[in-house]
Amino acid sequence: MPATVTAEPTATPTLTPTATPCPPDLCTFAGWLVLQRPIAPPGNDAVDVTYRFGSTQGGLRDPHHGVEFLNGFGTPVLAAGAGTVLVAGNDLETLYSPYYNFYGNLVVIEHALPDLKIPLYTLYAHLSEVLVQPGQVVQSGQEIGKVGMSGGATGSHLHFEVRLGENSYGAACNPELWLAPHPGQEDQPVGAIAGRLLLPAGFQLDLPNIVLELLDGRDGPPLAEYYTGAYEEAEINSQPPWGETFAASDLPAGWYRITFYQNGMQTRQVQVLPGQITLVTFDLRSP
Ligand SMILES: [Zn+2]
Repeated sequence: MPATVTAEPTATPTLTPTATPCPPDLCTFAGWLVLQRPIAPPGNDAVDVTYRFGSTQGGLRDPHHGVEFLNGFGTPVLAAGAGTVLVAGNDLETLYSPYYNFYGNLVVIEHALPDLKIPLYTLYAHLSEVLVQPGQVVQSGQEIGKVGMSGGATGSHLHFEVRLGENSYGAACNPELWLAPHPGQEDQPVGAIAGRLLLPAGFQLDLPNIVLELLDGRDGPPLAEYYTGAYEEAEINSQPPWGETFAASDLPAGWYRITFYQNGMQTRQVQVLPGQITLVTFDLRSP
């Protein structure tokens, strides 16, 4: 069932904007871009943009509660932060998703992050090997397993989740708003966009395609195009403090034109700053 956006998100921002004063509909935050990539080069440490968090790939798949890192069988999987192993095993008898044997061999790590008053969990699924034990303390970047295709995986990859507050499927939020920025080509600085849509009561969100055009300066011609989509299902969490409806990370710093069709054509120019999240609100509630 498509998501219905009816009201202002209730989450209270707890982070201080990096630019002040900040207009109510546009702000940048340093955020919690604190987790390291669970894959390191020469492995593929980029998020698969064809099946982002909240996507169903056009209704073909389950709403995605994490992100994929497409990698060959046996690629080392690394702890995304320091913490304690909560789960190291499989989901044949314990549910970590709606289905048994969906994630296959998996690891869950509990993290206590500075400035975050609730625990954060990272989950690593479809592993071919698990190299840690429950209760083990791990360091950020420590190898905890190897990429595989156990459980319901179609092809070898790492499914990576971030769970906020509790280790449950429903507590998953967008890892792209937690992973430290990944330098682009030639060490180009990158940042992220989180977009929030406020719709009139009862309006259905139907927004698979959002175009992010990197511009040559504030009003210059497009240099590159990136794509994302709105979270497709009501069960998908927006995360405090963003209350976001869509997001994309690892965008080269610069000016972007965001364009999509929802209650008419919407377009907006925003700036992405190195290592920061630009939160932009589209208030479409008035006619
Ligand atoms: Zn996945």
